[in-house]
Amino acid sequence: GYRPEDDYDYLFKLVLIGDSGVGKSNLLSRFTKNEFNLESKSTIGVEFATKSLSIDGKVIKAQLLVYDVTRHSTFENVARWLKELRDHTDPNIVVMLIGNKSDLRHLVAVQTEDAKAFSERESLYFMETSALTATNVESAFTEVLSQIYKIVS
Ligand code: GDP
Repeated sequence: GYRPEDDYDYLFKLVLIGDSGVGKSNLLSRFTKNEFNLESKSTIGVEFATKSLSIDGKVIKAQLLVYDVTRHSTFENVARWLKELRDHTDPNIVVMLIGNKSDLRHLVAVQTEDAKAFSERESLYFMETSALTATNVESAFTEVLSQIYKIVS
């Protein structure tokens, strides 16, 4: 039968993980459709989406751990999400930490330096984004995908 994945050389599967309400759905819709929804329904736990890029014959997975820069508890929970990830996935998987909602500057509760230090300790790529203003969304996805591409090529 027809499988859409057969039309691509490389199929990149992006998985976004993080607490409810941190902006996973909106990051994906901003990246894949350039759309943002202020009243989107929160997703619990894991958000899956596929983005297809034509390169050369494999399925590649990228994991993005997302927290909300205005809610410290969502950053504290990243450590837990990361443990789940490491217990249940390929150790060579590329993981990026994303501090979303950087547009809400006056409400920031997680300092960039703290998130950076955590990322360095855990060997994660790190970026702050805003799905609302589209700041760094393209860069974050492009960065994680190009890191993976470097590994597989
Ligand atoms: P999810 O549960 O992690 O999938 O989060 P959603 O994508 O559903 O977003 C939860 C809420 O945060 C929604 O009201 C979004 O409109 C809002 N939101 C998502 N990203 C941003 C952002 O970058 N900035 C701001 N100000 N709000 C955002």
